[in-house]
Amino acid sequence: MSLYRDTGVVLRGHKLGEADRIITLLTRRHGKVRAVAKGVRRTTSRFGARLEPFGHVDVQFYTGRTLDVITQVETVDAFALPIVGDYQRYTAASAITETADRLTAEEGQPALKLYLLVVGALRALAEGRRDASLVLDAFLLRSMAFAGWAPAITECARCGQPGPHGAFNVQAGGSLCSRCRVPGSVHPSPEVLVLLAALLHGDWETAESSAYGVRRDVSGLVAAHLQWHLERQLRSLPFVERRTRQAPITDTLGSNTMSGETEVSSAAQGTRSRESARGVTGA
Ligand SMILES: [Zn+2]
Repeated sequence: MSLYRDTGVVLRGHKLGEADRIITLLTRRHGKVRAVAKGVRRTTSRFGARLEPFGHVDVQFYTGRTLDVITQVETVDAFALPIVGDYQRYTAASAITETADRLTAEEGQPALKLYLLVVGALRALAEGRRDASLVLDAFLLRSMAFAGWAPAITECARCGQPGPHGAFNVQAGGSLCSRCRVPGSVHPSPEVLVLLAALLHGDWETAESSAYGVRRDVSGLVAAHLQWHLERQLRSLPFVERRTRQAPITDTLGSNTMSGETEVSSAAQGTRSRESARGVTGA
């Protein structure tokens, strides 16, 4: 029997049999780990509550034939308690853990940067000192940078010309100069680009001085950018679910996921439009 220990954040859990649960953790050294917690759904369980989503825990595992088994759990930070009692924090934290789960398709692949981003964002939500939607958007932008998909904000996504530029297009990779502009682009205000850059680079003073309408437009662009890249990534990894017993990853996505169309929130223009994901990239 081989034992190992790691610190991780609980991304989610689902039922297994009568009393057990499969827990998905993002760990510091082993990346994403799915492991069985035996008997945690019984009221007498010693560590059931510590393995609720958003928990930051120190865990001992032993290596099983299919899934590893959790044998000990100690709480490092009790993030769940202050998060689940507040609807806005809870929805932000849920989006953070779901995104982290989707960005780590491969289990056991170290993802230290992403783990640190998740812990930092959940800590900020638990402490409640920053606006939950700003914490979420900062996390999403930085985790997209981790994945190599950060939107171009000040330079043109296509030719690299320094900006700021007037057009923004998710499929093209972000800001576009007047020469590279393509149909279907949105035209965010300069304040939106300033807030995007502040969140990506951790400039909280600038971020927190932004107006509500600017934050709302930024959230729309960030969500559209993330959704488009996640769907493209999933299409490029059609066999990812074969390695695990988990339900196919595509089952958890919206119904339009595999249709080849992406819903793009044209938040900066205050309109919504549907555009073909193939339109710009020719993918
Ligand atoms: Zn350009």
